[in-house]
Amino acid sequence: MKKTKLAIIGGGPGGYAAAFLASDLGLEVTLIDKAKNPGGVCLYRGCIPSKALLHIAKLIEESKEAKKWGITFAEPEIDIKKLRRFKDKVVAKLTGGLGMLVKQRKISYIQGTAKFINSTKLSIEKTDGSMEELEFGKAILATGSVPTKIPAFALDSKRIMDSTSALELEDIPKKLLVLGGGYIGLEMGSVYSALGSDVTVVEMMPSLLPGADKDLVDVLSRTLKKKFSQILLNTKVVELKETAEGIAVKFEGENVKEAEQVFDKVLISVGRSPVTKGLGLENTSVTITERGFVSVDEKCKTSDANIFAIGDIVGGAMLAHKASAEGKVAVESVAGHKVAFEPAAIPAVVFTDPELAWTGLTENEAAEQGIKVEVVRFPWAASGRSTTLDRTDGLTKLIIEPKTERVLGMGIVGPSAGELIAEGTLAVEMAATVKDVALTIHPHPTLSETVMESAEMFFGQSTHIYKPKKI
Ligand code: FAD
Repeated sequence: MKKTKLAIIGGGPGGYAAAFLASDLGLEVTLIDKAKNPGGVCLYRGCIPSKALLHIAKLIEESKEAKKWGITFAEPEIDIKKLRRFKDKVVAKLTGGLGMLVKQRKISYIQGTAKFINSTKLSIEKTDGSMEELEFGKAILATGSVPTKIPAFALDSKRIMDSTSALELEDIPKKLLVLGGGYIGLEMGSVYSALGSDVTVVEMMPSLLPGADKDLVDVLSRTLKKKFSQILLNTKVVELKETAEGIAVKFEGENVKEAEQVFDKVLISVGRSPVTKGLGLENTSVTITERGFVSVDEKCKTSDANIFAIGDIVGGAMLAHKASAEGKVAVESVAGHKVAFEPAAIPAVVFTDPELAWTGLTENEAAEQGIKVEVVRFPWAASGRSTTLDRTDGLTKLIIEPKTERVLGMGIVGPSAGELIAEGTLAVEMAATVKDVALTIHPHPTLSETVMESAEMFFGQSTHIYKPKKI
């Protein structure tokens, strides 16, 4: 039987980052994934293909906007096959690159599906159909998540999509319903809307992006209302039925004007569920939480002394960078280093246009947890750079602990919010005070100045906004 010191099951951003660090630390490691190369959901059917398509969506939208500035382009002609090829090429390039890094690091890579026989052995069904057993010293479970299915809506129809099939871009439906106003629904809705679909978003909560601060969401909603034909909040879908014309959808909610509407396609994006079934976890001492995630401690160790778990399968922020960060902690734990996964801030980005991002404590969380905070907001109407971009719709805000003046969180809505939020994450992690941020010289003219000026606002001294501090 083959033996390995460390077996990593799942080659997503959690698993491959863990495998690469393990190799860099000199540990002998085996990485197992179903695909030819690592990448997981993030690279094959998540972050990367969606961002490639969102890049195109932004280009289309901007080409229309350009009319205002005296540049008129003809209506875009969309070659969907070529667009699909571009997205597939991006995925192939990046996953192929990861495959090369596996070889360079001399990681043993097994393409197949792994299952625990017990706490020291895996059985692997390889993609070529053969079976292999692998004995391990330690294992890291990184099997990720899949789109959540609602049994009542699981129609066997090509008109029903999840995020994976939506990314395949089979066609551009005339009328698309996006069921779920979370980030995946809004991102994919933005793609299809730019490509020409008439998009309706339905969300049962009172706001899009439930969880994100309202002032940020309001800015995004204003733009999305112009792009999407309907945004139905506080509204439930109670029935989906396939008819000859399409999918007949019944809505229930306070403000529903048309309780039954027909759509060419429906994208169901109501969340993601951890992959814990079929792994043979019952043959180990790994335990599952009430919500179905694998329970782990701060070292990413499960209740089985030999098995660690990371990424979407352990819940929390189900994001690629969180998975990678946990992967590194798990590997260092295996290597015997003194580490813990205790981030002060995990950034979250919604790659719509405008982008929306936050990090650290949000205003919602402060209110829920009874934490007293002071919030300062810098409207992008006062930013030189946003004016040059004709994008003054943004907002940068800081969440500050009044007594210590420490930055506890940051929120941004506006183009490039996803790039800008990294500064907030660093500020929170380094326990920066709002003075530190205000005194840091930022390049001009950039959107990053909005971070500095929001810090200046705390003192009533923002250069471009006259708002003296009330004493
Ligand atoms: P995954 O990426 O889910 O990888 C798990 C891997 O394990 C898969 O390859 C799977 O095939 C493999 N596997 C499962 N079971 C077995 C088994 N028994 N044996 C062997 N292999 C197995 N996150 C962001 O941070 N930013 C974004 O912009 C973003 N956009 C997204 C857009 C979409 C449309 C979607 C769906 C997700 C997006 N995410 C984004 C979320 C991100 O993709 C996940 O958080 C991330 O991929 C989780 O990483 P992971 O390592 O936990 O697992």
